[in-house]
Amino acid sequence: MQYVPFGKTGLQVSRLGFGMMRLPVVKAEDGKERIDRGETIRMLRHAIDRGVNYVDTAYGYHHKESEVVTGLALKDGYRERVLLTSKLPQWLVERQSDMDRLLDEQLRKLDVSTLDFYLLHALNGEAFDKLKRLNYPAFLERAKQDGRIRHAGFSFHDDKAAFLRIVDDYDWAMAQIQFNYLDDENQATLEGLLYAQEKGIPVVVMEPLRGGALAEPPEEIRAMMRENGRGWSPVEWAFRYAGDFGNVATILSGMTTMGQVEDNLRVFERIVPGSLDAADHAFLKSVKQAYLSRVKIGCTACNYCQPCPQGVQIPRIFEAYNEAYMLSRPRSLAWEYANIIREQGDGSLCVACGQCESVCPQQLPIIDSLRLIDLEARKA
Ligand code: SF4
Ligand code: SF4
Repeated sequence: MQYVPFGKTGLQVSRLGFGMMRLPVVKAEDGKERIDRGETIRMLRHAIDRGVNYVDTAYGYHHKESEVVTGLALKDGYRERVLLTSKLPQWLVERQSDMDRLLDEQLRKLDVSTLDFYLLHALNGEAFDKLKRLNYPAFLERAKQDGRIRHAGFSFHDDKAAFLRIVDDYDWAMAQIQFNYLDDENQATLEGLLYAQEKGIPVVVMEPLRGGALAEPPEEIRAMMRENGRGWSPVEWAFRYAGDFGNVATILSGMTTMGQVEDNLRVFERIVPGSLDAADHAFLKSVKQAYLSRVKIGCTACNYCQPCPQGVQIPRIFEAYNEAYMLSRPRSLAWEYANIIREQGDGSLCVACGQCESVCPQQLPIIDSLRLIDLEARKA
């Protein structure tokens, strides 16, 4: 296992972090899925025995069961061997006292007296403004002073402008962002990552495999990787990309099987910053282009077509369609489209009034595309 300094904390962190959000599950007697506790404990302890020292959970993971199981897995002396992170479910916060109440509840569930890192979970610009109004720094300082947390950070899902604004607002110990070779211009972006570096804030990477999609690329991308002289697997390419940046402290992997734990441990024996050369970076750019060339509809998500008088969620539908084609995951379209139908924003509601097409800067044939996608998504 490789280790790097964790920003200004004085800590050393393993470059592979264990994300406790895609754990193995079993069907319980009531028919619902529950975490397979025995297997999870075995997997996490094995990873720690092999050098992983960063464990990431959150209030909401696995229907609120993740923190409990993480606490159990860290009994028998394992807690002392890791840096433990959990996250404030900011969407449940209405007043400052809610933050204290939720943190106390999380410490009880984890059965620990302190967290090494406590993150404001899934911040976007709007959520951040709410926490600012509630004076989140006062809460974080209090929690640090009374020892419930050691360091504070945030995890993030929004655009670069929001990321920079949050980075500048507090003396964060770290920021957790979605980052991989497909997303270097999405969300916080590579520029955001480098900005955090300038400010001395290390980054923890989530979704290095884009929800697992980069581990199972379409055949033409698989072929590109086979022909590349490095001989690395799709997973190794993705981890190596994220791990190449010096400001990336640890890379979270949501492991579901012992096989994945073993595979990740093997790959992370070798992942050190700056190990990719110019040819590797050029290769990954060409892989990204190959993914992007699979995109079917050139929607830029500018939102000019919104709101549609019938409530059709045009950019969201196009995004789901493009993602499914780009990543060769037809079932992801069916799943997201079912959500859109439930929210009454699907393409079948379109009455062909033409309002959206008249304002679309990309001049997309929106009406025909919606019809086609509606048919495909319901079949998928
Ligand atoms: S054409 Fe359809 S999608 Fe476009 S604005 Fe009219 S109802 Fe909405
Ligand atoms: S106006 Fe066109 S490009 Fe913009 S979000 Fe709507 S469909 Fe996409």
